[in-house]
Amino acid sequence: MSLPRRSALRKSDVRETNERLLLNIIRQNVGVSRADLARITGFSPSSVTFVVNRMIRDGLLTEAPSDAPAQVGRRPLILRLRPESLFAVGVEITRSEARIACAGLDGRISKLRTLPRQQDHHVFLVRVRDAIRAMAGKNSDGRLLGVGVSLAGTINRATGYVVAAENLGWVGVDVGQVLSDGLAAPFYYENDAKLSALAERWCCEPGSKPLDNFVFLTLSPGLGTGVVIEGRLFHGSTGEASEFGHTSLVPDGRRCVCGSAGCWEEYASQRALERLYSEKRGDPCPQPCVDADVIIRLARNGDSMALEVLRETASYLGAGCANLNAAFNPEAIIVGDYLASAWDLMEDAVWSSLRLRAPNRYLNHLRIAPSRHGRDSALMGALALVLSTFFTGSGQNTGNGTALQPATAQRRA
Ligand SMILES: [Zn+2]
Repeated sequence: MSLPRRSALRKSDVRETNERLLLNIIRQNVGVSRADLARITGFSPSSVTFVVNRMIRDGLLTEAPSDAPAQVGRRPLILRLRPESLFAVGVEITRSEARIACAGLDGRISKLRTLPRQQDHHVFLVRVRDAIRAMAGKNSDGRLLGVGVSLAGTINRATGYVVAAENLGWVGVDVGQVLSDGLAAPFYYENDAKLSALAERWCCEPGSKPLDNFVFLTLSPGLGTGVVIEGRLFHGSTGEASEFGHTSLVPDGRRCVCGSAGCWEEYASQRALERLYSEKRGDPCPQPCVDADVIIRLARNGDSMALEVLRETASYLGAGCANLNAAFNPEAIIVGDYLASAWDLMEDAVWSSLRLRAPNRYLNHLRIAPSRHGRDSALMGALALVLSTFFTGSGQNTGNGTALQPATAQRRA
């Protein structure tokens, strides 16, 4: 394999790289002027002016006096993105529904549609495809950057083929082929837990510092983890890394949907929480009858059984978090789903369990916190997958940490 010759790098590639680099800095920071861009990038003022003028002409940016009063003389001119100039579509497919959303360059959702899950997966996916087409619009004039899709389980990220998503009941389902049929826009696919991690890092307020080393914990209906190491999502050799829900926690424990036994997921996921409550209550039905939200509400009202179930589940959560801490030395574990909703009720029990397993000297650096996007994490991640690919040239670069570095440009096909 030979490396491309330097001369093979086209002028348009360089121009696009420079544009995206400047756009990304403007996205990440509040009140950026042309002089700031020159200082941050090291580009000459004339180069910055050339690129910025072109982006203003193309409708990607506006330039207006700062809202802040000037210290001396005129107020400086500040550059801002025009979020509506381009847009992304994000899709989240879960056990109960599909959500299809549209967002501009700032990542804020402007349209949202929800479709209930149907038994026949092909019929269901065709309805999702129709909703994507409607969201993309016939007259978007090339403003659609792409479609990001969040899927549970083990998937082929290039094609959207679901190898196995046991919690959806899907094995060998070609989701990508159905969804992308007839739509020319690029499609991007990723596991839901990894996308939740991407959203946590990418969708921050401008000016805030994103996490570089952390684990995102999803709990509905199964237990998933998205791991970010030194600013990048960790995929492993075949994209299936960080399936911590299926690491064995209890020898000869409960049989898991993956075929193993004693997996963490069987003790700490939302499904496990609901099942434990049903078992303690002696429900006759084989499926959990009480939703996690109801259990949390009961616990808040002082229901002793609900509190006991949350504490018992928290103990398993802490045990698994001790394993995550030992494996990755993360600065944070960000929790989603029911644990984010009930964090105030479960925090002490999670930490007690953690401290039983790791001395404080191994925990002092660690923070555990609810996610910033709540139950929208995977959907926001699906949008962020498209937007991060546009801004940095690579969906795998999780974003804000590139603020002061040239982005690696990689043109989309
Ligand atoms: Zn398992």
